[in-house]
Amino acid sequence: MSDPITAEVQPKTAVQEASSARLLIVEDDSSLTAGLTRALTLDGHEVACVANGELALERLQATAFDLMVLDVGLPGIDGFEVLRRLRAIGQRIPVLILTARDAIGDRVHGLDLGADDYMVKPFAIPELSARVRALIRRGLVDHSTRAVHGPLEFDTVARRTFLNDEPLELAAREWAVLQILLEHVEKVVSKDTFIESLTHWTEDLSANAIEVYISRLRAKLEPAGIRIRTVRGFGYMLEEYRPAAAAPTSVVR
Ligand code: CA
Repeated sequence: MSDPITAEVQPKTAVQEASSARLLIVEDDSSLTAGLTRALTLDGHEVACVANGELALERLQATAFDLMVLDVGLPGIDGFEVLRRLRAIGQRIPVLILTARDAIGDRVHGLDLGADDYMVKPFAIPELSARVRALIRRGLVDHSTRAVHGPLEFDTVARRTFLNDEPLELAAREWAVLQILLEHVEKVVSKDTFIESLTHWTEDLSANAIEVYISRLRAKLEPAGIRIRTVRGFGYMLEEYRPAAAAPTSVVR
């Protein structure tokens, strides 16, 4: 067994840093969108923008975001409806709504629908930045079940997985096996542990079945450099993710 990685590399398995986040801005006013994008990018966030509710729902299906800034007054379905649909499918992404309507009823309606905060237009962008930071801090506590392992993102709240930012299709048991592996990175998990953890499934589960799920997971994950090692006679171990590109000469400290 030769390991080509000789230099120390930065393991990427971690719940995301609280200081920056991936934000989705849903706003049809292009000058406001430009201002928000500039300010939030300067704050260190990754920002994506869409101008209507349908596109927002599509983007949220395809990509994991940490927070959404959602305008209420949108062409087509409005922000309240976007929020209602998200919460109806169990999407718990933190949402800050923007409303031009100062009516207290609107704010209450937004919060009742599951918004985490709101701002009334017009507002000062630095105040929005501060509220976004506060929501991220709160949001990441709530979302501590989101794990990142190299190019793999795994969200136990939304029950979704992304590989290289693309949704990764996993059968329910593959998902459960992967979750256990992610909770034990660089630690050997015995086949018995898998079987015990999956006993809420109705059928009996054999060691052979675990092998099948592992082999399916390998087929999906190994092309992206994520390795599940067999520990003969005992079980499996998800290896720490090491980017293939990390050559010894490129690591300088
Ligand atoms: Ca608007």
